Amino acid sequence: MTSLELDFDINILLFLFVYLLAILTVVLLSRKLVIRKLSELPERFGKAPTVLFVLLSIVLLIFGYVLDSTLREKEYKEYYDMAKNMGTIFSRDLRNEGHATLYQSDADGSKEYTHILRKITEWQNHIKEVQSVYTMRMDENGQIYFVVAPATDYNKDGRIRGEMEQRVPMGTLYKEEVPELKRALKGTFTMQKKPTTDRWGYSISAFIPVTNGRGEVESVLGIDFDGDQFMERKMNERLKVIGFVGLIFIVVVLIYVLTLLSLAEKILTKKHKNELHKMAYYDELTGLPNRNYLNNLLPLMEWGEESVVAVILFGFEGLDAIDELLGNSKCDNVYVASIRRIQTSMKEHMKLIRWSEREHLIIVKDYSTEQEIVNFAESLVKQFLIPVHVGSRDFYISPKFGISFYPNDGSDWNALVKNANLAKMHVPSENDNRVMIYNSQLLTESNEKRDIELELHHAVIAEQFEVFYQPQLSLISGKPIGMEALLRWNHPSKGIISPLKFIPLAEELKLINQIGLWVLKKACTQTVEINELYGLNLRVSVNLSSVQLQHPHLLQDIKKILIETRLEPRLLDLEITEGSLFNFEKSSQILEDIKNLGIHISLDDFGAGYSSLSYLKKLSIHRLKIDRIFLLNIPKEEDTLMTSIVTLGHNLNLKVLAEGAETIEQVNFLKSIECDEVQGYYFAKPLPYHEFIAYLNKQLNID
Ligand code: C2E
Ligand code: MG
Ligand code: MG
Repeated sequence: MTSLELDFDINILLFLFVYLLAILTVVLLSRKLVIRKLSELPERFGKAPTVLFVLLSIVLLIFGYVLDSTLREKEYKEYYDMAKNMGTIFSRDLRNEGHATLYQSDADGSKEYTHILRKITEWQNHIKEVQSVYTMRMDENGQIYFVVAPATDYNKDGRIRGEMEQRVPMGTLYKEEVPELKRALKGTFTMQKKPTTDRWGYSISAFIPVTNGRGEVESVLGIDFDGDQFMERKMNERLKVIGFVGLIFIVVVLIYVLTLLSLAEKILTKKHKNELHKMAYYDELTGLPNRNYLNNLLPLMEWGEESVVAVILFGFEGLDAIDELLGNSKCDNVYVASIRRIQTSMKEHMKLIRWSEREHLIIVKDYSTEQEIVNFAESLVKQFLIPVHVGSRDFYISPKFGISFYPNDGSDWNALVKNANLAKMHVPSENDNRVMIYNSQLLTESNEKRDIELELHHAVIAEQFEVFYQPQLSLISGKPIGMEALLRWNHPSKGIISPLKFIPLAEELKLINQIGLWVLKKACTQTVEINELYGLNLRVSVNLSSVQLQHPHLLQDIKKILIETRLEPRLLDLEITEGSLFNFEKSSQILEDIKNLGIHISLDDFGAGYSSLSYLKKLSIHRLKIDRIFLLNIPKEEDTLMTSIVTLGHNLNLKVLAEGAETIEQVNFLKSIECDEVQGYYFAKPLPYHEFIAYLNKQLNID
C-alpha cells in the first residue's frame, strides 16, 4: 500500500468521525434549544425524532458510501475500457508492424524497431490520460525485459531529461513484481486496481497481450496512466458525493430541528393551556378547585337523578383577628394550614372546593344517611380543637358548617350553596354546636333579617332613631351622677325596636359608625341642655361599638362633636365592651388617646364575656360596669363573686357601677359591698328625653 492510499483511508475515517460528531452536535444543540424554550426537558422528549434522525443520518452515510464506490468504480471502468480499446488497436498494429521479430533481428538498431518506437511515442504523446506506452517480454529465464520503451516526459516540462525519462534500451530488465503483468503474459488483458509507484513515478497500468502470427503471446503492451490524474478524477467524484450527502444531511437536520421545535411548541401551548385552565378553575393560594370548576366541570345534573348530593359549606372563624393582628401573609399561612387539615379528611367520593375567599364546599356524592354527613362535619369540628401550628405559634381556628342536600334543598349549585350558607349563618358564634342543616324556617328568619337590613338603611335617612336615657346614681349620696344614652328605633309600623335586635346588624352593615356618631352628637347636645337647665354636671355614657373603635376617624369625630356641642370632655363617658379589646394593642392605644382628651371610659358588661383580668391593669379606663347577670340571684344567694369584682375594681383604682338593679334588696346589697354606683329599673327604665327631664325634675324636687 502506498502512502497516498493510506492518506485516502484516513480521509474516510476522518470524514466518518466528523459526520458522527456532527450528528452528536446536532442532537445536543437541539436539546439545548428545546431546554431554552421549555426551561426543562420532559421525560422521553423527542425520542422518536432523535432515533429517526440518527438512523436517517446513518442510512445517508451508507448511501453516500455506496454512491461513492459506484462512481469511483465507474471512473475506473472508463480507464479500463479506454485501456482495453486502445490495447486491442495497438496490439493489432504491433503485430502487423512485426513486433514479434524485434528480438531476433537485434532490433534496437533495426528499421522495424525505429518504426515501432516512433509509433509508440506517438500514441504516448497524443492521448492525454496516457503517461507512457511500452512493450515487455519474458526471456527463457522467466525474467521480464523491455522491448520498446520510448523516452517519456514524466514531469511534463516539455523536455526529456535525466536517466528516468530516457528511452529504455531493449533488453533492460524490469524488476518490479507486478501480478497483472504476469497474467497478461499468459494471454489475459489486465489492469491494476489502484495506481502504484515505481521508479518511473505514480501510475496505474494496463497490460495487453500482443500475439504473433500464430496467435501466441509474444509480449505484453503496457499502458501507464497518470496516477495523480486518475486519483484526482476519483476524488472529484467523491467531492460530488460529499456535497450531495452534506446537502441532504442539512435538510435532514433542519427537518429534525423543526420537528423538535414544533414538538416543544406543542408542549408549550399545552402548558399554557393547562396554566390557563388552572387559573380559571383552580385557586392560586390553596390549589383547590374553585367556583368555576364546580359550575363548569361538575355539572350537578350529570350525576343523574338517582344520585344524592350533600353540600357542606364552611368558613373559619378566627382568621380575621389573625389578619388584623399579624398581617395578611401570616393569615394566609394559617388559612392554608387549616385547609390542609380539612384536606387530610377528604374521602374518595368527596370534593373540596374554594367557593369564595372565605367559603368552602365539600361536595359529597352518594352518601347513605344525612346523619353520616353531619357526623363527618362534626368530626372536622373536633379536628380544630387542636390549634393550627404555623411558624412557632398556635392558632385557634374554628370552622362553622352549614349543610344542604340535593335535590331537597336546591336543584343547582347556587341554590344549594345559598341554603348551606344560610344554615351556616345560623350557627351561633359562641357555642359548641358548629354544624347546622338547612331548613325552610331558616329562610323565614333570614328574610326577616333582610327586611330589617333594608329598613335600617332607610331609618338612618328618615331619622327614625331616638336616644333614651337611664339614670346612673351614686350609691353613697343616692343622687344621679349621670345617665346612659340608649338608642331606640321608632319603626313606623313595628313600634320601638330594641337595640339588641338592630345594633349587631348595623355593625355587620358598617352602618354603626354613622348611627353611633348620631347618638353621640344627640347625647352630647341634650346633656349640655340638661346640665344648663339644672346647673348640674351630669356625665353622659354613650355606648361605643367595637366596629366604631376600629374606625380611623373616631378620635377626630369625637373631638369635633365635643367642640360643636360644647360638652366638656370630662362629662362624656364612653362605654366599651370586652369584645372590643380583641386586638388589644390597637384598642388600648385608641383608648389611651381618648382618655388623653379628658374623656371618661367605662368597661361595659364586665364579666359577661371572656373576661381576662390581665388586661384590666393595662387599660386606660375609669370605671367597671358589672353585668346585670351578677345581680340576678341576689339577694337570694350569697354572692361572693360580686363582692370580689367590686374589690378587684377598687384595687385597680376603678369606680364600680352595677347594672340592672331592680329591687331595693339588690340596692342594699350593693351598698353593703361598697359598690360605688348603680343603674337599673329600680330607679328608672331608659326614658325618652322629655320623660328623663321629668324624672330629674322629680328627683331634684324631692331633694
Ligand atoms: P348596655 O350598654 O349594657 O345597656 C344596658 C341595657 O340594660 C339596656 O338595654 C337597658 O335597658 C338594660 N337595663 C338597664 N337596667 C336594667 C334592669 O334593671 N333590668 C333589665 N332587665 N334591663 C336593664 P337596652 O337599652 O335594650 O340596650 C341593650 C344594649 O344595646 C346595650 O347594653 C348596648 O350594648 C346596646 N346599645 C344601646 N344603645 C346603643 C348605642 O347607641 N350604641 C351602641 N353601640 N350600642 C347600644
Ligand atoms: Mg352600656
Ligand atoms: Mg351593660
